[in-house]
Amino acid sequence: MKRLLSFSICLLLAAAVSAQPQVIAHRGYHATDGSCRNSIASLKKAQKLGIFGSECDINLTKDGEVLVAHGGMHPDKSIYKDKSIERVDIQKSTKAQVQAIKLENGETMPTLDEYLAQAKKDKKTKLIIEVKKHNTPALETAIVEKTLATVAEYGLQEQVEYIAFRPFVCTELKRLAPEGTKIAYLNGDYTPEYVAGMELTGIDYKYSVLQKHPKWIKQAHKLGLTVNVWTVDKEEDLRWCIEQGVDYITTDNPVLAKQLIKEMCK
Ligand code: MG
Repeated sequence: MKRLLSFSICLLLAAAVSAQPQVIAHRGYHATDGSCRNSIASLKKAQKLGIFGSECDINLTKDGEVLVAHGGMHPDKSIYKDKSIERVDIQKSTKAQVQAIKLENGETMPTLDEYLAQAKKDKKTKLIIEVKKHNTPALETAIVEKTLATVAEYGLQEQVEYIAFRPFVCTELKRLAPEGTKIAYLNGDYTPEYVAGMELTGIDYKYSVLQKHPKWIKQAHKLGLTVNVWTVDKEEDLRWCIEQGVDYITTDNPVLAKQLIKEMCK
């Protein structure tokens, strides 16, 4: 009887996790030697993991260059070791001013061009580009246009997906990107129904939002939307997301996520 019960529980669990989530390295695989967030090294290291994708953030500088950086200020003092360094506001500075401050691993902050050149070297790893908020709609349209044009130049339309917090950025991406481009909304304040109405392809919500609204996962799926969740790093939280049947998990801990998925989704 006991054995039958445990067998039934196993079957139930197997059913619950039959859908296998894909792993996305948040700002690349940075929690490892020689790497740091949004660096070329973090993209290269994510590519070596054999995961679905690597996420990065982009900002437009004052002189119209697209840089891969979380921003608004560079460096981010919460993670940068040298606290004495004078920071710059990426969107209010020139590319040269921003790049004068090296990343933590000694790299020069990459341009979108350089990032795409590295992405192109490994067709199997998607690049998930987060277009950050800017101060005006015109600037947001400008970064969307410039980014889409650069991605097209590299021939990477199939390999690149987009995410954004700002609804306007999402709808500009939808308006200007080729048909079928994957665009997900990050801010967590819209129902799946509303996001489907924006004609986006997915929700990409903070872990705590999906915990508060677990029904949104099934609702999103019914509407044909994908479900991504960020930024999930702890084992118990990763397990919860895997059990809930999300499609993508964005994490600072891609190695653990990959291992747990392998263990739980046999
Ligand atoms: Mg991001």
